[in-house]
Amino acid sequence: MSDIKVSAQEVHKSFGDTHVLKGIDLEVRRGEVSCLLGPSGSGKSTFLRCINHLESIDSGRIEVDGTLIGYREHGERLHELKPAEAAAQRENIGMVFQRFNLFPHMTALENITCAPVFVKRAQRSEARQRAIELLERVGLADKADAYPRELSGGQQQRVAIARALAMTPDLMLFDEPTSALDPELVGEVLDVMKSLAESGMTMIVVTHEMGFAREVADTVTFMDGGVVVEHGTPEEVLVRPQHGRTKAFLSKVL
Ligand code: ADP
Ligand code: MG
Repeated sequence: MSDIKVSAQEVHKSFGDTHVLKGIDLEVRRGEVSCLLGPSGSGKSTFLRCINHLESIDSGRIEVDGTLIGYREHGERLHELKPAEAAAQRENIGMVFQRFNLFPHMTALENITCAPVFVKRAQRSEARQRAIELLERVGLADKADAYPRELSGGQQQRVAIARALAMTPDLMLFDEPTSALDPELVGEVLDVMKSLAESGMTMIVVTHEMGFAREVADTVTFMDGGVVVEHGTPEEVLVRPQHGRTKAFLSKVL
């Protein structure tokens, strides 16, 4: 098995006249934590959504585990997975959004068992047992029967992480998972992500939490205007950035 989990080459994506991704190259190795930073509008969410089949790409190629998600050469040949293939591939990719997106009418436990039961046709009792283990893992064993409205933002986000993990993904995408949280709740979510990283999960994390990026990331990628401006170790990108745009951005967020 190749060491490369995700490989993006020359990925372009436009929405109408808006050219959002202008040739993104990124490789993520198995077990790596890859942090993506960049100003608002630089295309970070769009890029994650392309990896997860929520958007199709216009040109370039993206592979996950060596399997093509989509590619086009010279604007002519397009390879895209059939819907069933895309769905199968997406099952192995977990995504956590800025807004927790829990189903409001379901308890924490029901939120976590829902996809395994309906998508993976898991036995309800097995899914329930696994959900309880996952709630323990995110520190919420006592909240199984709580509804989202009864949970803090940090607790809801931890349930959202448990819900993503219930599908046993081998790649987790996080899109600014803590930016909608009150500051005092950020740490508990980052702690869960850190322990997930320590367990060997491959993770791509869009975040402006520089402490997390410095401590947990293996690589940091700075994006601006739909291109990768700088990529390297946290030390290289955050402490000794080479590009003016990276320096300007860091001076605003640090
Ligand atoms: P980031 O996550 O870095 O803030 P996004 O990927 O959300 O950036 O957005 C990049 C650009 O793409 C923005 O100009 C945004 O308005 C545009 N965009 C994103 N999604 C859509 C869409 N579905 N339709 C039209 N424009 C979009
Ligand atoms: Mg975004």
